[in-house]
Parts: sequence; C-alpha cells; structure tokens
Amino acid sequence: MQQVVHDPDRMRALVNEARAAGQRVGFVPTMGALHAGHTSLVAQAARECDRVAVSIFVNPMQFGPQEDFSRYPRTLAADTALLAAHDVDWIYAPEVSDVYPPGDATRIVVGGPAVLFEGERRPGHFDGVATVVCKLFLAVPADTAYFGAKDWQQTLVVKRLVCDLGLPIRIIVCPTMREPDGLAMSSRNAYLSVADRPRAVGLSKSLHRAAGLWSAGADTATIEQAMRETLSAHGVVVDYAALADPESLEPVPDDAARAVALVAGRLGSTRLIDNMELPARVTPQRDTKR
Ligand code: AMP
Repeated sequence: MQQVVHDPDRMRALVNEARAAGQRVGFVPTMGALHAGHTSLVAQAARECDRVAVSIFVNPMQFGPQEDFSRYPRTLAADTALLAAHDVDWIYAPEVSDVYPPGDATRIVVGGPAVLFEGERRPGHFDGVATVVCKLFLAVPADTAYFGAKDWQQTLVVKRLVCDLGLPIRIIVCPTMREPDGLAMSSRNAYLSVADRPRAVGLSKSLHRAAGLWSAGADTATIEQAMRETLSAHGVVVDYAALADPESLEPVPDDAARAVALVAGRLGSTRLIDNMELPARVTPQRDTKR
C-alpha cells in the first residue's frame, strides 16, 4: 500500500526501518506534475531497489523572484493517482514550513559545475537545488537517488554536493524521456501555447544537428552556430546553445573527444532546456604544415 507522508521525521523513520531490515531503498526527488520522464526514474528505482520513495515538493528556494514559482503546476491528487500504478511505497510531500522552518537561514552554495549556463542565467537556482536536495536526503536516507539527464547540469551539481559533503547516497542518472516528436518531457511543457508547441521541437532538432556535425568532425564554433540557427528557425529565442565538457561544463577545444550539447531558449513566456551527450569521437588530425 502506497503511503503519503508529510512529516520528515516519520519519513526518515520509515526509510531507516526498511534499511535496518536489509531492504535497499531508492529515492526519486521531484517537484510533481508528474509525467513519463518522472515515472521512468521510478521504474528504474523499482528495478534496482526493494522499496521506492518519491518526493513531491515545489521548492521555493530554487525559483528566482521573476520565475514561475506561483504558477508552477501543483497536482498532488493526479500525481498520487499516477504513482498508484507504479511500484512506489512512499510519497513524501512535506510542507514548505517542514523544509524551511521559521527563521531558516542556512544555504548550501555549490561552485564548479553550478557556475555556468543555468547558474549564470538563474542566480541562486543551484544553491536552492543543493539546499533542498540535502534536506530531502536527510528526510529520505535512501541507498540510491535517481535523477534525470534532462537536467544535465543539475546532475553534476548533485554529484558534486554528494562528494563534497560525503553524503552516504549513490546517484544514478537516467536517460531523458521524449515526446514522439523529440521534445524532452517537462512539467513546463504544459505552459506552451498551441502555436508554440510544434516550435518547441527546435530544441531537440538543434541537438541532433549538433550531434551530426560533431561526428563529422566540425569545430565548436560551427556547431554552436548551427544550433543557434536551428533554434531561431523554429522561433525559439536562444538563451544559450553551447558545447561543454560533460563533467566540468567548461568550454571544449575544437579537437575535444567528448562533449555535451546544451540548449536553453524561450517560446513566449516559457523557458525550456535540453541537452545531449555527444558520442565520443576520434578527431581528425588537423593539417598544420601549410
Ligand atoms: P522536476 O520535477 O522537474 O524537478 O524533475 C524531477 C526529476 O525528474 C529530475 O531528476 C529531472 O531531471 C527528472 N526528469 C524531468 N524530466 C525528465 C525527462 N523528460 N526524462 C527523464 N527524467 C526527467
């Protein structure tokens, strides 16, 4: 029987009890408005663990003052109904005041992979992510936590956090689930107008274009320009379109063997992100004799 748990102490006790009985616990943190991307994480957790906890918490600290915190979809009843069809033992749905008690004044600040891209465009976002993830891991002291590659930079930030604080939890990154036309599933896709929805395919198209050029040995500037062109051609207002080192997110040299392509753009008032890890390539020797 699936249980909805609001109290962090109760949640922690349930997980500790299961682990003391020798069960492996998997944890999927979410902000709700669940879709097949989320349930793919749940399915992987259920395959690999004996018990599964899913948290549903719209974390105010990771939204900027001009962002969509107040309009972010909150659909706990529908989410609970959806999870009933999956192997989920506990839905952890704390109140804001449970996560941030009155007078709350503690933040976790991550540098390194948190600095560029989303970190530049959304000041404080990853501090909010790191802080809530740490608090969620304290309330749900699972063996393993599952995150989506959809939020590539977030996975790096969480891995950095876990490593730096020595948190006793294993992080697994799961593949991005997509709509039939290639659009990465996202709770924010619900914001798209009927006219903008088909344009949103520009994000994944730009990543495929990058992958083709990358495999053909193109240099970074050419690939980034092509990504921007593809986004613009679909009416997506480009926020960034770049290749980066898959672990550090630092810029990649033209002869790099590994990279992730990252895009962010706007359609109307909806901001979407996507990424693709590019296949490792052997770069051609450049002719330096001329
Ligand atoms: P969110 O509710 O947007 O905070 O997402 C919760 C978790 O689901 C995060 O680890 C996301 O990366 C992951 N996620 C969101 N969308 C997808 C997707 N399309 N495919 C796989 N994982 C996803």
